[in-house]
Amino acid sequence: MEQSEREKTRRQNCHGEPIYRNQGEQFFVLSPLQPTPRAPYPWESETHLPKITKDFFRCKGSPLNPGVVDVSDPEHPLTLSDCSKHGLPILRGKETVYPILIDLLNFVQKKTGKRVIITCGHRCPVHNTYADPCKENRVSKHQIGAEVDFYVQGMEERPQEIVGVIMQYFQESPLYRKDREAQEFRRLRTSEQSTEPWVNREIVIKLFQKEEGRDGDNRHPHPYISIQVQYDRDERAKVTYNWAKAHQGYAK
Ligand SMILES: [Zn+2]
Repeated sequence: MEQSEREKTRRQNCHGEPIYRNQGEQFFVLSPLQPTPRAPYPWESETHLPKITKDFFRCKGSPLNPGVVDVSDPEHPLTLSDCSKHGLPILRGKETVYPILIDLLNFVQKKTGKRVIITCGHRCPVHNTYADPCKENRVSKHQIGAEVDFYVQGMEERPQEIVGVIMQYFQESPLYRKDREAQEFRRLRTSEQSTEPWVNREIVIKLFQKEEGRDGDNRHPHPYISIQVQYDRDERAKVTYNWAKAHQGYAK
């Protein structure tokens, strides 16, 4: 076929369809994209976290731990061994720790949806000395089940937020800081601690920064919070350390 004839056939077979459209008209307009927050994984919700019980507070001592040398008296260095298996303090005839601590830590888990890691709950006197032989620690309330050290997994670097959560728990008797009574603060604060504690009638909260309060039970790289019970609301009595409670008041 000749060129001109081919062109003629092409034109004959060619069909066109007009497009009717107004200027600026658009079909299928996309709405601006909105990011949707990811639904939490099952393990991220509070309901899947193990409920804190007294068993989380058991002494972390083990006879398998190597002996440590206490050099607080350089003249007479002393080798300390860790404790062997034993139970929790006996309170009102039951093996347990102060219930406010259990309740508070469950509250923290509920509010944050994150797991509370207890690094130090009850410490028997043997483990207490083993973990931190310094003199001030001899009267630690860990020995009577009235103190707990912990951090929150996933919020390790935000301990102040955890203190905020604990404050929500005490709406009726708010926690405050003792700026007014500097003397009291000095009493509550250990020498190496830079953050002023929060207190109310019932508890004291201390915040230990990364480099502070590193005893045998807190050999992790995170800041941690310590809660001490000052007042037992069930017994309506002050909670204080005494030798007999610490040394004889737990199940052997
Ligand atoms: Zn122990």
